Amino acid sequence: MDTLEIKNLVVEYTSDDETVHAVNGVDMVIPSGKTLGLVGETGAGKTTTALSILNLVPEPQGRIVSGEVFLEGGNILAMGEKQLQAMRGDRVAMIFQDPMTSLNPIQTVGEQIAEGIQLHRKVDAKEALRQAIAMLEMVGIPGDRAMEYPHQFSGGMKQRVVIAIALACRPSLLIADEPTTALDVTIQAQVLKLINELREKEKMSMLMITHDLGIVAEVCDEVAIMYAGRVVEQGTLEDIFDNVRHPYTRGLFDSLPDIENRRTELKPIKGMMPDPTQLPPGCPFHPRCDYARPECGQSMPNARRLSNTHLVRCHLYNHTTEDMLGVKADA
Ligand code: SF4
Repeated sequence: MDTLEIKNLVVEYTSDDETVHAVNGVDMVIPSGKTLGLVGETGAGKTTTALSILNLVPEPQGRIVSGEVFLEGGNILAMGEKQLQAMRGDRVAMIFQDPMTSLNPIQTVGEQIAEGIQLHRKVDAKEALRQAIAMLEMVGIPGDRAMEYPHQFSGGMKQRVVIAIALACRPSLLIADEPTTALDVTIQAQVLKLINELREKEKMSMLMITHDLGIVAEVCDEVAIMYAGRVVEQGTLEDIFDNVRHPYTRGLFDSLPDIENRRTELKPIKGMMPDPTQLPPGCPFHPRCDYARPECGQSMPNARRLSNTHLVRCHLYNHTTEDMLGVKADA
């Protein structure tokens, strides 16, 4: 069974005079035990998609307008508050970007890890603390530091504590939202390696949210590229890295340095992400796209399957004939 399946998710944020169209019909699957990298620029809708999985879109401004989010077969968006509380931190856990916002400065790290264990595993405080110390050791922190406070730890160690909290109840799905962005470059690789090793050991599925294709190449099995609240291309690592099809995904690769081929001149994608309160008609990428055709400004392309694993949402692939990027789509 797939761990997670999102169907046609639409999320908006409204204020007095405008509506932000943050997520505009996302479909996504994470097969059991796999890691999906969700990639896109700031404002693409990645974090809102993740918050929807926990049914934590901040109200009253935020609203899940429609869609379904199935976790191991059960629709999270149809759950009552009691069921949601039991699910959060137990079957799904999330690691945020900045460990400081996730940790309570006036509680010891051991207590913070133990809290979730006690809540979800219904064990007494002593047993919860014993398990918390074991978790600390699992993330590479000596157990005798359990009674210390967050300020006594470095940035990388704090993120290890956050990982210990997230994994304490052995969730089936771990959501990691840019988990290494706030860390030193030298620490980033260690934390990433740790997350990946624990994920494999615990056989968890993972949603890795990032704007960094290097991280995707290191830890992900599959990749979904998001633009203006939609997944525009999805496939295996090989589909996306060796067989890129969507012009936006290609633009993301072209804007990276290519050390192997000594390309030093970066080619950033021209223009800016559209204002999510005023998305352009048709394909939202059309004002920036070198391949845009007349229909691109008029109608939204449907997602089209290029193979069993590779999906793309672009008018270039609407036809069965060879197109500009040289791919023959299924009829
Ligand atoms: Fe470019 Fe058109 Fe494809 Fe959008 S649909 S990415 S504008 S070619």
